[in-house]
Amino acid sequence: MAAAAMAAVASRCGGGGGAARALALRCRRLHTVYQSAELPETHQMLRQMVRDFAEKELMPLAAQLDKEHRFPAEQVKKMGGLGLLAMDVPEKYKGAGLDYLAYSIAVEEISRGCASGCVPQKHQWISPFTSGEKIGCFALSEPGNGSDAGAASTMARLDGDEWVLNGTKAWITNAWDASATVVFATTDKSLKHKGISAFLVPMPTAGLSLGKKEDKLGIRASSTANLIFEDCRIPKANLLGQPGMGFKIAMQTLDGGRIGIASQALGIAQAALDCAVDYAEKRMAFGSPITKLQAVQFKLADMAVALEGARLLTWRAAMLKDNGKPFTKVFPALLLSSSHSTAHRLKAIQILGGMGYVTEMPAERHYRDARITEIYEGTSEIQRLVIAGQLLKAYRG
Ligand SMILES: Cc1cc2nc3c(=O)[nH]c(=O)nc-3n(C[C@H](O)[C@H](O)[C@H](O)COP(=O)(O)OP(=O)(O)OC[C@H]3O[C@@H](n4cnc5c(N)ncnc54)[C@H](O)[C@@H]3O)c2cc1C
Repeated sequence: MAAAAMAAVASRCGGGGGAARALALRCRRLHTVYQSAELPETHQMLRQMVRDFAEKELMPLAAQLDKEHRFPAEQVKKMGGLGLLAMDVPEKYKGAGLDYLAYSIAVEEISRGCASGCVPQKHQWISPFTSGEKIGCFALSEPGNGSDAGAASTMARLDGDEWVLNGTKAWITNAWDASATVVFATTDKSLKHKGISAFLVPMPTAGLSLGKKEDKLGIRASSTANLIFEDCRIPKANLLGQPGMGFKIAMQTLDGGRIGIASQALGIAQAALDCAVDYAEKRMAFGSPITKLQAVQFKLADMAVALEGARLLTWRAAMLKDNGKPFTKVFPALLLSSSHSTAHRLKAIQILGGMGYVTEMPAERHYRDARITEIYEGTSEIQRLVIAGQLLKAYRG
């Protein structure tokens, strides 16, 4: 059904062999006229397609995956088959050739179904990673530094035709399931962030071992672990970009990735609202459904308004990125959607009363899953620093 919907989207956009390309072209045209009132038709259809997929394939499994800490490999492959793992990757790399707005929409809908399911979405890669057969991971953080990523102490030393890596990367999402990683390591620590380069390391590789799987509060279906490099040798050609460009590559990746995290927060918040409304319509108190109570209506209204505001900001950031404009200042989108996601889960739990506190209902999982959006790809405090920096630069400039 989802594939059929995608085909319908494509045929409306010109169909034929270059259907995805036609869709991409049409998206670009529509972007120039879209003024935030409503999504372009193509994006609406994409949203419906991903929503159908998430409701059918992810939602029924999400609680079990969370309980068993199990990676949804089969579902990720299906996402790859639908082109959902590489929305904005060019077609020549087997991506969908769409845009960042499409990416944001897909991440939100997948996260609404299962917040852990969107985690592979973040790490766009070249085929076969775009097809979902393999997934990658992004190794920047270290035990001694997370926010201060420029202080990386994982070392890379050139030895003949090989790079030799030594050090430990921490908290790496998908570490146990990945077939390759991008690792950030320094060739000269005295150069600070300018000494950092990016390397592509296939997994498994001799000299690279995995730490234990972290037992996490939320997004438990994705694995998180240390990557330990001990004289790990990779070909010289596995350097990504130019030497010393690693920090810039990491920051650019995180800039775009933060739109993904904001979208993930939106999906979780939407799922919490859906759950709260569904429960409140059915729950009787004092002879009526609790949706008759003003206290409940106020909570639902606050959740809906906050969610829509955060969504518009997130889409705006995505569209600015699609149009090659600076979007970092719109990062309040991330702050808003993640903190509203937090507020949502609290309100949803309150509306469900006791049922909000037990695993029988998904509200408690949303409560746990949402918390990570205030920590990874830059904590909320670091986001504020970035926003303030951009803001002051704009005023001073
Ligand atoms: C589940 C999970 C998955 C993750 N996945 C990945 C991954 O795939 N790849 C990866 O590289 N990393 C990953 N991370 C790491 C994540 O990005 C870091 O945890 C995060 O950036 C914070 O770094 P830290 O934990 O070292 O905290 P610290 O940097 O030690 O921060 C501790 C506290 O100090 C505050 N703080 C620090 N510096 C400042 C400052 N200048 N101003 C104000 N406050 C400040 C922080 O906001 C925070 O509240 C993941 C983490 C988790 C929990």
